[in-house]
Amino acid sequence: MGLEEIVAMLRCPVCGEAMKNSLEEGGVDCLSCRLRFVAEGDILNLLPEHAQRLEA
Ligand SMILES: [Zn+2]
Repeated sequence: MGLEEIVAMLRCPVCGEAMKNSLEEGGVDCLSCRLRFVAEGDILNLLPEHAQRLEA
């Protein structure tokens, strides 16, 4: 299974909402938490303390 398919099923580990596929920009976004979970190659880092804050 590719990362794209995983992202489609993924929920935010913080709030449980569906997340936005922004892999072309380097990660997956939770628009509720305003966090980007960063992908490095095929590895998606879902640790909230490693997430980047999205600009408003
Ligand atoms: Zn969230």
